[in-house]
Amino acid sequence: MASNTVSRFRELGKKIVAVGRNYREHATELGNVVPTKPILFLKPTSSYVTEGQNIKIPPNCKSLHHEVELGIVIGKTGNNISEDQAMDHVGGYVLALDMTARDLQDEAKKKGHPWTLAKGFDTSCPISDLILKDKLPRSDNVNLWLKVNGETKQNGDTKDMIFSIPYLISYISKYFTLEEGDVILTGTPSGVGPVDKGDVIDAGIDNITSFKFKIE
Ligand code: MG
Repeated sequence: MASNTVSRFRELGKKIVAVGRNYREHATELGNVVPTKPILFLKPTSSYVTEGQNIKIPPNCKSLHHEVELGIVIGKTGNNISEDQAMDHVGGYVLALDMTARDLQDEAKKKGHPWTLAKGFDTSCPISDLILKDKLPRSDNVNLWLKVNGETKQNGDTKDMIFSIPYLISYISKYFTLEEGDVILTGTPSGVGPVDKGDVIDAGIDNITSFKFKIE
């Protein structure tokens, strides 16, 4: 991974590819069936916010949900990447929130419309600094937690992902060239729920990173 990617992945990356329902318990908590292949959607990079900025509730949203996720930062561009080669394309990781306007998403699902507004609005992707790859040697066994106003809401482990990180990289790269700086959001464990104006979200990976965002 080029050294400038470490500090500039948010500017370099052209896309955020997100995976829906990649944890069994989360799929079923929303009444969805457990998928047999990855469910993918895109978030624009304009949705990034970093600590110190606030999360905004998008227009017409009455139910903004938190989803804590491990993000993969692509360090080496590629397409049609094999599962065996997949980890060579990982430059590092991020802690991220896939903020979701759940009511807008429910409406879109009912009508068969895309999730773009529900998932891609400004501030829908709070993100940490880059976690270097060697700081997370076992990304397949990482604890992710999230609290709202100090109360634990999500506490999961990447070992419970339905589709593994190498599988996701390989699968996604058959359709999209994964470019240096792009981010893959790997899905959220169970415990998602609403946040309101004034609430504070704390999230983290034990001993690695944590961040705090306020809802405005
Ligand atoms: Mg998500």
